[in-house]
Amino acid sequence: MSAVATDLLVAPHGGELVDRTGERPEDLEGLETVVLTSRELSDLDMLASGALSPLEGFMGRADYEGVVEEMHLASDLPWALPVCLAVAAAPAGERVALTDESGRALAVLDVEEVYPYDREREAERCFRTTDTEHPGVARLMGQKPLYLAGRVTVFERAVPQFPELALDPTDTRAAFAERGWRRVVGFQTRNPIHRAHEYLTKVALETVDGLLVHPLVGDTKSDDVPAATRVECYRVLLDGYYPADRVLLAAFPAAMRYAGPREAIWHALLRKNYGCSHFVVGRDHAGVGSYYGTYDAQRIFDEFGPGELGIEPMFFEHTFFCRTCGAMASTKTCPHGADERVFLSGTKVRELLVAGERPPEEFTRSEVAEVLIEAYRAS
Ligand SMILES: [Zn+2]
Repeated sequence: MSAVATDLLVAPHGGELVDRTGERPEDLEGLETVVLTSRELSDLDMLASGALSPLEGFMGRADYEGVVEEMHLASDLPWALPVCLAVAAAPAGERVALTDESGRALAVLDVEEVYPYDREREAERCFRTTDTEHPGVARLMGQKPLYLAGRVTVFERAVPQFPELALDPTDTRAAFAERGWRRVVGFQTRNPIHRAHEYLTKVALETVDGLLVHPLVGDTKSDDVPAATRVECYRVLLDGYYPADRVLLAAFPAAMRYAGPREAIWHALLRKNYGCSHFVVGRDHAGVGSYYGTYDAQRIFDEFGPGELGIEPMFFEHTFFCRTCGAMASTKTCPHGADERVFLSGTKVRELLVAGERPPEEFTRSEVAEVLIEAYRAS
């Protein structure tokens, strides 16, 4: 694949892909260590791969303040969520080793700054609530009291849950270029793809060159469908119903924050780093419970100037099969009533699957239903 071809893709956020991978340092043994949470570990790995470009490490105070208050980094680039490392106390040295919970060293961080932060304010600004029933707020409130900032150098990458789906931004960009794609739409999901999602990804694909199905496989709530089951659903659906040269399946290694609107912006900016020019934003993107309005995650894009984000959001309505239209549709495209629409609640779908029954074909492809039924049977 030629460099010329990847140049045709959208530029990474900030202009260049960051690479924070490097050699294991000689002085590692003597360093003070900081143990990272699973969310911090996934951020660390995305810092290594450039998925969080232009960030080169955990955020300092100026970036943090700008992001929390104004959704912009100190450089004035848009950015929607803090990427911070919480610690109990300031380290004594200028450099610390970052480890996972088993104590395995993965990276070093060159200490630039240690600063206190206001959990309530961060929750209010980023999550629009301080309710600790909110999983993102609960995690924030349980964090250690100081943020440790500095560039990281990662010498041990995270072991991916799905190695064949572990594509870094350089890999997806190369794959897009190889297929001759210039305009690519990214689709974020943390659920199995039902017909509604199949429809909207295909409507999006009609207007661009390629589709990146980019399921989130990092930490999610324990009641979301397990990642392995979801990945199997994507495989059977893509194999059976999408042209192989128009779609790429890869894992998005981020941990869910459930920050709704702000996370929609953040997800879009990260997909730009992966080479996407467009990004699907449905109803209540990255939401949880009833903390966010149905369209809040779409409206928030209006808070940025034209072209400022450098990735085009594609907004979608709730979609369904309409018996009168005889097709998939949405309230934008179908004038018929609710009685004509094949719609099942999440609870109803779960009930059917647990009982070993397939939801209607207009709602879920039978191949996908089989995978889900099998998974419920095994659990
Ligand atoms: Zn209709």
